[in-house]
Amino acid sequence: MRAIFPKNKTVMTEATLRAILCPCCKQLLYALEPDVRGGWRLTKDSPAITNDQNGPFMKCPRCSRRIAMIKSQDSPERGDPPYFVASKQACDKFLR
Ligand SMILES: [Zn+2]
Repeated sequence: MRAIFPKNKTVMTEATLRAILCPCCKQLLYALEPDVRGGWRLTKDSPAITNDQNGPFMKCPRCSRRIAMIKSQDSPERGDPPYFVASKQACDKFLR
């Protein structure tokens, strides 16, 4: 007995994106997509990462809060994204 599978089984491309939620408002903050080296990079429509005296941050496009980011210490060969959201957030800091 042989199992029959449909020939044109499509794979959803959206599954390759990683959505990162805002730690303050729980809405979409930015997304990661696979890059050519097998790692991850921020999608083009992600908010820009800026630096101030407290380090890198991103302005949440939904709630305009200052979301602290941490630069990844690992080498890109391991496939880690260049930045990730800091686990501690000051959700009372709003940006103009
Ligand atoms: Zn937010």
